[in-house]
Amino acid sequence: MIKTNWHTHTARCGHASGSDEEYVLAAIQAGFKTLGFSDHAAYRKPDPPARMDFEQVPEYIQSIRSLSEKYKDQIDIHLGMEVEYYPDQWEELSWYRKNLDYCILGQHHIVFEGTSIYKVDDRENLMAYVDALENGCKHALCDYICHPDVVLWNYPSIDGSVKEAAERIAEISLRYNMPLELNCGSGVLRDMKTYEDGIRFAYPTRAFFEVFAEKKCPVIIGLDIHNPKLFLTDKYLDRALSVIEGLDVRILEDFDLVSAASERKKDFY
Ligand SMILES: [Zn+2]
Ligand SMILES: [Zn+2]
Repeated sequence: MIKTNWHTHTARCGHASGSDEEYVLAAIQAGFKTLGFSDHAAYRKPDPPARMDFEQVPEYIQSIRSLSEKYKDQIDIHLGMEVEYYPDQWEELSWYRKNLDYCILGQHHIVFEGTSIYKVDDRENLMAYVDALENGCKHALCDYICHPDVVLWNYPSIDGSVKEAAERIAEISLRYNMPLELNCGSGVLRDMKTYEDGIRFAYPTRAFFEVFAEKKCPVIIGLDIHNPKLFLTDKYLDRALSVIEGLDVRILEDFDLVSAASERKKDFY
């Protein structure tokens, strides 16, 4: 079982359950040593409303900081955000980047209020998604890339463009020393889906990790927890690991994302 998780949500996003303290207690019970909260970043205009309101940000910060203090003898708690690369929301993004312990890049729309990554089914949008990841890394906005393969949710088959996207993401990871996430959230919480070329989980996607393994990209396991109870089961972690079975994936264990973030923040612009 893993002891570190940087990808934890709170009920503020509207599609998670439980109090902040319940997440902490469940993580302690499960034997975690490091817990990072990274709820969906708020923007002044919600996009879509699957995130806290901008006005809730101070209360989110206060709540996690006080739990960090309260449980400091039992677990290291850190405060981050799951952000998107949205150039027209840079004021908020800059503030998160400068004031929080770390940021992880979970691109959910190609551009702010644009195409949802859950609807991408063509090469043009697939490559535009990779462009967004590249720009996020180039600006040092983030410390790891969440579910890099989430864009394949609705993509019809593992074709040449998918392989090219994987190669490009691997290059980005190596160029910016950016860990890529093996995600244990929505993709494996649901059953496998049927695609034109077979049945598989929506993500993580083996075709991506074949390339990441071959290129020796750094990989971090992220539970993407939206319910405290999920700290207490290995079921979804095991499902995600089954996707990469037999691949020589370079998994970073107990990686210190906060130290990496404080270095990277110097390059943020
Ligand atoms: Zn979420
Ligand atoms: Zn997430």
